Amino acid sequence: MQRREEKPTKFYELSMAERLEVLMRQANLTRQEADMLSSAMGLSPAQADHMIENAVGIYGLPLGIAQHFLINGREVAVPMVIEEPSVIAGASFMARLARAGGGFTAHADPPEMIGQIQILDVDDPATARLKLLEYRDEILDAATKCDCTLEQLGGGARSLEVQVLEQPPIGQFLVLNVVYDVRDAMGANAVNTAMERIAPMVEKISGGRVLLRILSNLADRRLARARCTIPLGELTFENFRAETVRDGIIAAWAFAAADPYRAATHNKGIMNGVDAVVIATGNDWRAVEAGAHAYAARSGRYTSLSRWGKDRQGNLVGTLEMPLAVGIIGGATRVHPAARVALKLLGVQSARELAEIIVSVGLAQNLAALRALATEGIQRGHMALHARQVAIAVGAQGEQIERLAQQLIDESNIRLERAEEILKEWKSAQET
Ligand code: NAD
Repeated sequence: MQRREEKPTKFYELSMAERLEVLMRQANLTRQEADMLSSAMGLSPAQADHMIENAVGIYGLPLGIAQHFLINGREVAVPMVIEEPSVIAGASFMARLARAGGGFTAHADPPEMIGQIQILDVDDPATARLKLLEYRDEILDAATKCDCTLEQLGGGARSLEVQVLEQPPIGQFLVLNVVYDVRDAMGANAVNTAMERIAPMVEKISGGRVLLRILSNLADRRLARARCTIPLGELTFENFRAETVRDGIIAAWAFAAADPYRAATHNKGIMNGVDAVVIATGNDWRAVEAGAHAYAARSGRYTSLSRWGKDRQGNLVGTLEMPLAVGIIGGATRVHPAARVALKLLGVQSARELAEIIVSVGLAQNLAALRALATEGIQRGHMALHARQVAIAVGAQGEQIERLAQQLIDESNIRLERAEEILKEWKSAQET
């Protein structure tokens, strides 16, 4: 309780209720909106029942707010939904280091997705391909007309290409790829609808038989990029010299750039940050995951999505470029009450702006992991949080949680059996 008298000023030192008060002031949230974030008024069973089939309940996950993010010159409180400890602390800490170098500069491509149509049984693939190209404008026009809302907003089909796949296991066939601007939606439904609608026209023109009509999750026309500079001096900590930390981070990145086994874990660290915001905003994280990993393997060899190096002054510089198919409209973004408030908190007006924030968080998360790995290792920070989870798992409550976690750390024995033992000892001591 001494904690209260000290007037905590740091967000992480506040109670949950106090953190919500801060957010309400910062982002102009109503009490009702704050309740939606805290889950006092979150997704209802009735809403869940409408969202999926055979619903029986609602599965909760922690929602936290990453601090210190300065993105394109704007302060952003970042909502993150994640079950893994250390992620939000890591992102916030790295955002603070990046802030000393001006924060994150981010940019996203126009929201262009790719729809695919598979065309089988054409007499001559080369002729069918040219016929489809001859009708390019008619096909694009028909695809655009499938979604008059998008058309009115300036979206719709932009271009197309037709490929003859030479060596599929069933022999040659054609693929029509349509690039479709989905404005502020993630766009899967919009694109799938358009592909299904234009399929008969495509069959007629090509003389073939359309089988698949579906979006591609390799959204490489919809890349988001972030960069940051960490001033060299910011990298010093404990007994580590700034140059050692910087060069360690660069060497750690080089490992991921050269080795797919390392790259998988390196990119997983990036996705810790990316997915947490994608989920918080009600977006489809499987779509984003699929796009990220397919993009990481685009050269034929799976590699790192990010790059780290140094500038002339010796500062650490990082960049991240990846597909980010996220929306602020459609899907669950407006259905899930907490996602709606998360979007308000982020203050984004477009899907592109949301992607710019998400890619910046991914870069921050990547830095947090590399910095820890290249210096003290990640287990030290993890252990304290892990100890807390073990304490909760064995049933510790209130103040017991911190006390039990601390004892497990002091004993260097963070195991469920030991935690149970200690809790039992405390119980019997109380009873006697
Ligand atoms: P949606 O169909 O729910 O909403 C998008 C629609 O909103 C657009 O078609 C448009 O008509 C309308 N709209 C209104 N105002 C708009 C604005 N300002 N900007 C853009 N659109 C506006 O959603 P969606 O984004 O087309 O699809 C996303 C959903 O599809 C997600 O739930 C996802 O999980 C799911 N999905 C994904 C895949 C995949 O990734 N492979 C496949 C199928 C479905």
